[in-house]
Amino acid sequence: MPISFARRIQQVQPSATLAVDAKAKAMQAQGIDVVGFGAGEPDFTTPQHIVQAGIAAMSGGDTHYGAKRGNELKDAIVAKLKRENELDYAAEQVVVSCGAKHSLYNIVQVLVDEGDEAIIPAPYWVSYLEQVRLAGGKPVIIETGEETGFKISPEQLERAITPKTRLFFFNSPSNPTGAVYTPDEIRALAQVIEKHNLVTISDEIYERLIYGDISPLSLGSLSKKLLEELVITVNGVSKTYAMTGWRIGYAAGPKPIMNAAKKLQSHATSDPAAFSQAGACEALKNLRMSDEAIMHMCEAFDERRKHMIKRIHELPGVSILEPLGAFYAFANVSGVFGRKIGGIEIKSAMDFTNIALEQAKVAVVPGEAFGSPKHVRLSYATSVELIDKGLDRLRDLLK
Ligand code: PMP
Ligand code: GLU
Repeated sequence: MPISFARRIQQVQPSATLAVDAKAKAMQAQGIDVVGFGAGEPDFTTPQHIVQAGIAAMSGGDTHYGAKRGNELKDAIVAKLKRENELDYAAEQVVVSCGAKHSLYNIVQVLVDEGDEAIIPAPYWVSYLEQVRLAGGKPVIIETGEETGFKISPEQLERAITPKTRLFFFNSPSNPTGAVYTPDEIRALAQVIEKHNLVTISDEIYERLIYGDISPLSLGSLSKKLLEELVITVNGVSKTYAMTGWRIGYAAGPKPIMNAAKKLQSHATSDPAAFSQAGACEALKNLRMSDEAIMHMCEAFDERRKHMIKRIHELPGVSILEPLGAFYAFANVSGVFGRKIGGIEIKSAMDFTNIALEQAKVAVVPGEAFGSPKHVRLSYATSVELIDKGLDRLRDLLK
């Protein structure tokens, strides 16, 4: 008898970002020399002081349910949010999960019901859309492009709100575009959010990766109402501390929402790994050593960013708006559409991606996954040498 799958899983696509990365790694394992610009993760290893804290936790017997340093981690998160983001949360309003992806998943599951709407500005990070679909909700997309710096206006947000709206996803700096909202732009969106009592996820996972002079500003810090009733702040240690494999993310927000998230998580994963919590605790508490490591990584990302943008500008038919945050270059490849390369006509970003991988052995992520079919995403969280190698290949392909 054929297996009958639940509707919720039939409605979703696998994560395109993870799929591209897996495909590139599989080709590398076969001995094919692929240059990978797919993975959205720092290429640095976790700073040693954090690694040592994880090892010490494990060898010290922190191998049970309920990490020994679980409460200390929550307090460290509360202190971080206060110190760096002017967000005043109590420890009971914080839920630590297995990555920020898991934090987002919890929030969507507890707020979005069958038929409910969630507003997502495009280009969006691929999992926002699929998480809404998994909950049976309807993603309502606000389109943006280069002309607005890939940012939405308050008027666009207001127009997207309906009586069925349950949630709004806000992400600055943005994956995949690298767009960063200015404090004034965030304040203008906050007015609409307050006026319509719009529950909002502020995904601030790339907050430490901003190049140039825009200061980060946490949406939830703008008023008591936003903080206490409307905004769920999501963050984690993956990007800032090069800890993607440790799987620690967190959400902080209005008490009833966080209580519901705790209840859900208690039946899904319980707490994240105990030694991972110890590592995250060290990352957030040992400010001197962590800040030094972050500064070093940020400087490297900025150098690579400038280099990659320069090299993308040299590609015929490809254009790019300078990204100001995160570690992604979101290149517009629509100027190549209609051209034939190696006998195959490029009609979409997906075609471009396939040809880049098959003929040039360069892995990028197709914009279709981010709701933006004219673009491809290249991660510059890799060495300048590999950026040159990959961009040389793309230049030769498009010549
Ligand atoms: N939000 C955004 C915008 C991201 O790019 C990522 C990276 N995967 C996440 C959340 C989740 O990160 P993680 O689960 O590794 O903490
Ligand atoms: N956030 C990263 C990306 O967009 C990691 C992969 C994932 O979790 O989707 O590539």
